[in-house]
Amino acid sequence: VNELRKDILLGRWIEVLSESKAPSEYSVPEDQNPGTGCIFCPEGEHALQEIAAIRVDGRWQVRAVPDLSPLFQIEGELGRKGAGIYDRMNSIGADEIIIESPDHNARPWEAAEQVIRIISLYKSRMSDLSRDSRLRYILIHKDSGSRASYSHPVSRITAIPVIPKKVKDELDGAKQYFAYKERCIFCDIINEELTVGERVVFETRHFIAFIPYAPQFPFETWIMPKRHSCAFHEIDYPETEDIGVMLMTALSKLCSLFGDLPFSYFIHTAPNMIPRRNHWHTLGEDYHWHIEIIPRLTLAGSFELGSGFYILPTAPERAAKYLREVR
Ligand SMILES: [Zn+2]
Ligand SMILES: [Zn+2]
Ligand SMILES: [Zn+2]
Repeated sequence: VNELRKDILLGRWIEVLSESKAPSEYSVPEDQNPGTGCIFCPEGEHALQEIAAIRVDGRWQVRAVPDLSPLFQIEGELGRKGAGIYDRMNSIGADEIIIESPDHNARPWEAAEQVIRIISLYKSRMSDLSRDSRLRYILIHKDSGSRASYSHPVSRITAIPVIPKKVKDELDGAKQYFAYKERCIFCDIINEELTVGERVVFETRHFIAFIPYAPQFPFETWIMPKRHSCAFHEIDYPETEDIGVMLMTALSKLCSLFGDLPFSYFIHTAPNMIPRRNHWHTLGEDYHWHIEIIPRLTLAGSFELGSGFYILPTAPERAAKYLREVR
């Protein structure tokens, strides 16, 4: 029989189908990658204002630039006000693009040293943006393959003046668990996963990659630091090196199973604490940053859209086994 499972962080239920789909039974959309006249390639680099970069022998290897069609603007006031019973404010924020490689056709996640540079630039951009007290949340995120807006490999940083709902739900879930047990829910999950073992994809000295007990999507993989820390940008250099290897391995394993599949990932970290310094009493203890990798294998149907209740065609334990077995 199929099984219903509850996500203890968000309190949401999912259904795991008993006949687990194998990787070969998913149809992966084709990827188009033309790459002519690309402004992210080194030939067009002078057209873009550089925010930050990491250079080797004078050539940039990763580079942060402003988004070409920003959703948010950095100048101005928030202008919060009521509109009848509703609330509104100006779209103050920052949109940056992290160019992950000078090479248009690179798959940056195939080389650990490049992933380490990308992570290092994420860290320095996040530290810098978190000094702006108008910005409540800074989300680092990436789309690859047919989901991406640009064919050049990039990831993005979006800093916004509100805490997004999904993060708020995690913060609330973690806070409730901490209030009840006086332990971090994520540290408890790590201990549980390492004890049980069947959903662990692999681990390094500082990180664990595993399939959550009740994920939203098949083959969804979470990477978590073993050391308790609420903020991504507080990672030290050994952890940066380690997570470079971790992210490279996790993405390469997915690509060996599914070919060049579209995927997304994002970093969930603590909100910017500067704007409301005395508001986050236990956040340092109850929240724990992590990366969620979502292979784009399925589309939500009407039941999922209408209920927020997701159907999982491959059991987490089976998915972890498939991923453990690829090299
Ligand atoms: Zn390019
Ligand atoms: Zn923790
Ligand atoms: Zn999360």
